[in-house]
Order: sequence, then structure tokens, then C-alpha cells
Amino acid sequence: MSDFIPPARIEARAADLWRQFELEPGFDIEALLDGLQLDLTWELLDDTAGDGDILGQLIPGRNLVVLNERHLERLEARGRAQLRFTIGHEIGHWLFHVPGGFGSSPFFDGERTLCRSGSAAQIERQAEAFSAALLVPRDSLQAALPQTSWSGWAPVYALAEKFAVSATAMQIRLEGLGWAHRPEDGKPRSGPEEAPGQGNLFDG
Ligand SMILES: [Zn+2]
Repeated sequence: MSDFIPPARIEARAADLWRQFELEPGFDIEALLDGLQLDLTWELLDDTAGDGDILGQLIPGRNLVVLNERHLERLEARGRAQLRFTIGHEIGHWLFHVPGGFGSSPFFDGERTLCRSGSAAQIERQAEAFSAALLVPRDSLQAALPQTSWSGWAPVYALAEKFAVSATAMQIRLEGLGWAHRPEDGKPRSGPEEAPGQGNLFDG
């Protein structure tokens, strides 16, 4: 299945899990896997052929998330930020794509998903969006934002540490919610991007 899923539904499903399992920022994602009755294992997966690394896979028939030992260092680095994001991605497939089946999706070989990082495919982007919503829920992030307008990477790093995600993932999440933007100097700033010319919509 690669049907369109409204972003609000993805956010709501993540919020449901937070309520159901009483999650908190930086929560133990392996404990969440237990709660969802999913197992976790490491395997050496050769992903050298093809574009994009395979960090994780889901084997729905065995309720199993597989992490690629080949990228162990990257997955374990910086407070396991990449590991948590990858597991969140596979949980996204489990919740949104397994119930209807993967059908003829090229991202499923009949037994396991073939997730490659950087894929622009809808099914992969949905899993990415779910992972972001799960690790950094909208309401929890809103409550953690600085009270006044801010600029620079320091606030982004602080939020990233609180939610145990990478600074890049946090910046993307903030931008996606319209709570930060990066002007041409590349330095993050609070608030949505100023849209030059937007005022013209209301002119004449
Ligand atoms: Zn995937």
C-alpha cells in the first residue's frame, strides 16, 4: 500500500502511543518495541549495491525489527539518535503499512522491507514522518520551545538532546512545524520563514 496518509493522522497516531505507553522525551524506544510486541535483532546486511544505506528493516511476519550491523557505529553514535530514528521508521511501517499489506511495493521483498535512507518514495516518507512525530511529538515540542524568539544552533542542540534525536532531525522537525527556519546565512531562527511577496496575495 502506498496510499496518501494525511499528516494529521500520522501525528495523531504518534500522540496515541505517547498516551498509551506514557512516553516522555528521550523515551526508551526498545521498551516501546516490547510494548508493541516487536522484537529487535542485528544482522549484517550488504547494502553496497543500490542507492542509499539500509539502516533497518521490518519483517512483519516475525514481528521483528532488524538493524544493520554494518552501520552499528552510526546507529549507536550521539546518544543512539540514528538508532531511535530508524526504529521509529520501522514502527511506522508496522502501524501504517502492514495492516493493508505492502502489495506490490518495491520496498518490500515479500518478507521484509527494503528501506534505504534518503528514499523519496511515499511509503518511506510516511515512515520518516511517523518517526519524527513519535520521537518529537508536536505538543511536547511546543511545551519545550524557548519562551522568547531565538536564533543559532544552541537552542536546536538543547531540544535535540532533550528528545534524543540528532540536531539535523530536530531542525527539520522545527521547520516542518513552522517553528523555525533557516535564512540564507544558514543559522536557524525561530518562527516560520518570511515569505517575500506573500502580502501581494491581499493586494488589489
Ligand atoms: Zn522504510
